[in-house]
Amino acid sequence: MTGKLVIGNWKMNGRLAANLVLIEALQADAAVQAARVAVAPPFAYLGQAAALLAGSNIALAAQDVSAFDKDGAYTGEVSGAMLADVGCRYVLIGHSERRQYFAEGHDLLARKLQAAVAAGLIPVYCVGETLAEREAGTYKAVIAGQLAVLGALAGYDCVVAYEPVWAIGTGRVASIEQIDDMHQYIREALLQCHGASGSIRVLYGGSVKADNAEAIFALQSVDGALVGGASLDVDNFGRICQAA
Ligand code: PGA
Repeated sequence: MTGKLVIGNWKMNGRLAANLVLIEALQADAAVQAARVAVAPPFAYLGQAAALLAGSNIALAAQDVSAFDKDGAYTGEVSGAMLADVGCRYVLIGHSERRQYFAEGHDLLARKLQAAVAAGLIPVYCVGETLAEREAGTYKAVIAGQLAVLGALAGYDCVVAYEPVWAIGTGRVASIEQIDDMHQYIREALLQCHGASGSIRVLYGGSVKADNAEAIFALQSVDGALVGGASLDVDNFGRICQAA
């Protein structure tokens, strides 16, 4: 184990019975037990997961947080304080699916980041370019623009996940050279906007599987992985944790 952080993003998947089976299997997996790991179930199942994970090394993450940081009349919203209350340590913010399907942009994400740290959560801030942006050669500027929002978080513990949109759920993983290039770039950009890139972990995400995790984790610039599809499969996730 090299101490990389592995976060399983379940997305909008799971049911009480299936979650029970998955979490029990994760807890019985020696590689998962030995790794630095978190799982991010849907909101509806955070309480169930927290109860099952009590006393375990597997941390709890939420997939999103409200930009509103005070309780009140915000129907459908879930606050950072609530997430902390049920036992979350991390919260994903700015996942490309939120940006794409829910039009989440810079101002909203800045508020969500503030709300997360105000509640004592560690934000896992996701950045990534689309295929069109990669092909147009504008991808580094896109990422720099997305990272700029972290300027206001200087001094807070934070995780960045680089997830090229074209590699998410597509089976098309970025090449080792592309990953290393972007992670080096992100570290430099973080120095500009956050001031202390050393204290920020930078994860890779996008079709991470058991068979490519080892090569990705061999990169010094990669501090771990944000895993979607493969996090629902214990064997796959366990082997990713083994590589971590
Ligand atoms: P994937 O998803 O591993 O299924 O590509 C990664 C993510 O969206 O976090």
